Amino acid sequence: MRTILLGPPGAGKGTQADRIVEKYDVPHISTGDIFRENIKNGTELGKKAQEYMNRGELVPDDLVVEIATDRLLKDDCREKGFLLDGFPRTVYQAEKLDEFLAAHGHRLDKVIDLEVGEAELMKRLTGRRVCKVCGASYHIVNIPPAREGVCDKCGGELIQRADDNEETAKNRIDVYNRETAPLVDYYEKAGVLARIDGAAPLEETFGSITAALEE
Ligand SMILES: [Zn+2]
Repeated sequence: MRTILLGPPGAGKGTQADRIVEKYDVPHISTGDIFRENIKNGTELGKKAQEYMNRGELVPDDLVVEIATDRLLKDDCREKGFLLDGFPRTVYQAEKLDEFLAAHGHRLDKVIDLEVGEAELMKRLTGRRVCKVCGASYHIVNIPPAREGVCDKCGGELIQRADDNEETAKNRIDVYNRETAPLVDYYEKAGVLARIDGAAPLEETFGSITAALEE
């Protein structure tokens, strides 16, 4: 199975990715994880990426592609395929991924686009609360603590992280729409896109995903 999971911040990609991995035994390749791995292990690619990050610059597309495809060459992906998450992020990266797959005689099976309206995304993104002491995660709508503002596990204070406020949330959604949404058109034209309602209850969303993957 060679699949990509797309969706704006707050669409619930992490949760659905975990379910997909569990059901289909496919490696979950998250770009965040690969970057951290390369940097931690001091690989050449990691060092290059680190230089850009240290300067506060975006890692260039070609380097992102190199780091991602390098990971796809590992045995687990060669045997089982992959569920990509966080890559590709731009049409250019998508084209490079297609070239890479074609060069190895493969193609994408499906691209899952988790769709959630902006009002719902805002509610999800700004409702998160994190325990200052133990890091446990809550949500004022979805996973409320027993006592408002207090961690169930350790009694610590629950705070809103700076990147969960409204302005930042709006900005993250805008960046996604501008940069990544064109990918949806790209994959639609390629005939591999499955639009999934990410605002439905978790089980229902997962049901739609499995139906699309097994089509
Ligand atoms: Zn706590």
